[in-house]
Amino acid sequence: TTGSMFKDICRTLQQLYEEAKDIKDGMQADYIPELAAVNPELFAIAAVSCDGETWVHGDAHIPFTLQSTCKPLLYCLAQSLVGWEEVHDHIGYEPSGQRFNAFALDEDKNPHNPMLNAGAIMSSAIIWTHLKQKVAAYKAVKAFVEEMAGHVTPVTFDNSVYLSELATASRNFALTYFMSETSQLLADANIQEVLELYFSACSLSCDCLGLAAIAATFANGGVSPITESDIMSPEMVQNALSLMYNCGMYDYSGRFAFEVGIPAKSGVSGALFLSVPGKLGIAIWSPRLDRKGNSVRGLHVAQRLVEEHRNLHVFGNV
Ligand code: GLN
Repeated sequence: TTGSMFKDICRTLQQLYEEAKDIKDGMQADYIPELAAVNPELFAIAAVSCDGETWVHGDAHIPFTLQSTCKPLLYCLAQSLVGWEEVHDHIGYEPSGQRFNAFALDEDKNPHNPMLNAGAIMSSAIIWTHLKQKVAAYKAVKAFVEEMAGHVTPVTFDNSVYLSELATASRNFALTYFMSETSQLLADANIQEVLELYFSACSLSCDCLGLAAIAATFANGGVSPITESDIMSPEMVQNALSLMYNCGMYDYSGRFAFEVGIPAKSGVSGALFLSVPGKLGIAIWSPRLDRKGNSVRGLHVAQRLVEEHRNLHVFGNV
């Protein structure tokens, strides 16, 4: 991005922040009790350009848990440990068209894609199996997230959310045992430790600027625009962006690709990040969710942004 284009986009984001602030629809996720305890009025937007310019607005320095926005990160760490081909022996490429925690596998009995719970649990199993030790696996995930965020702000661990999530995890345990019936990888793994790894990744926290820096590292082909360190190969990033484009917004992914057209990932904490290839990363955080689990204000800002800047849509230049 040229600096002036970045400034233009940030100006629009600031207007959209004011516009979206009045939206009170939706509800925080309550199946993880600690997420229901977060103040629903909190709202932040941040952007980081591929040239390393940064911009924040609103509650931009309050940390929130990554939740499902950690899924592309787990997928990329798994790819970097064993290569993308081996990752895809265990995880598919297709949108599932179902809820993020649905009991649904593809024709090969694999999770449909890495952006759903089943797929992210499988990425965690790959990481756990490769590193063989739960502390090493957790440290690798945390270090990877910190690097992706360019150390722009701290990445912390929210133990309250973690414990709350672990205490209400029946569905994720059931999903994992269900997969272990047909997955040798899971049959050989310690399921308790794999899930603890997955929940710890979901409970890693950063502020909106940190998440925007992560988004920008994806947009910038795996090189952090903040530190200029080369974290992922372009091939791994291409894989992640393709799957985010098709599967990143749960069962709204098809419509989101249609109307927004930017690879993105949402999480039940109300976090949402968008990676505009070659241009910038944007993060939006607002805890109230719609029925599919996407942030209501986040979705509104994304939709309106592309109305105002049509060329941000991947097909916006036709
Ligand atoms: N930790 C959450 C879960 O596994 C993540 C889900 C989400 O953000 N959609 O249920």
